[in-house]
Amino acid sequence: MYLPAKVTDFFMKQWGLSDDTPCTSIDHKTFRSHLKTLSAYPVKSIGTKGFKDAQACFGGVKLSEINPDTMESKKIPGVYFAGEILDVVGPCGGYNLHWAFATGFIAGQAIAQI
Ligand SMILES: Cc1cc2nc3c(=O)[nH]c(=O)nc-3n(C[C@H](O)[C@H](O)[C@H](O)COP(=O)(O)OP(=O)(O)OC[C@H]3O[C@@H](n4cnc5c(N)ncnc54)[C@H](O)[C@@H]3O)c2cc1C
Repeated sequence: MYLPAKVTDFFMKQWGLSDDTPCTSIDHKTFRSHLKTLSAYPVKSIGTKGFKDAQACFGGVKLSEINPDTMESKKIPGVYFAGEILDVVGPCGGYNLHWAFATGFIAGQAIAQI
């Protein structure tokens, strides 16, 4: 199990262990107890950092208003959409970037054929 340094520091202090305590000096029963504490530690979310720091947002142009073969608006012919302006959001991990690249590619190809 790998943990960020700040999390490790927090638990080490809770357990009365110093930074240089070798794992091998902790007996099996205590070690298992610490693992149980770590995996079941309750974390309460206290809020978000707000829109300014948002990485991706819900909302935008409805997909039902777009031709998925060209990304052209059904409402305003000649207008093309790609990426986050559309009402699609994925978890962090490349899904939003992939969506932006893929829809940008489709729109670009369609526009080049006009
Ligand atoms: C800090 C951060 C971390 C992220 N991490 C991830 C991640 O790990 N994985 C993931 O999948 N997604 C991530 N995202 C989301 C992802 O970056 C976006 O979903 C994606 O870049 C959207 O691409 P886009 O081309 O639609 O919009 P944008 O990348 O926002 O591009 C829009 C462009 O339009 C320009 N623009 C705006 N208004 C005008 C105007 N009036 N005239 C001319 N130009 C204009 C802007 O300057 C900008 O360059 C992250 C976002 C942020 C902010």
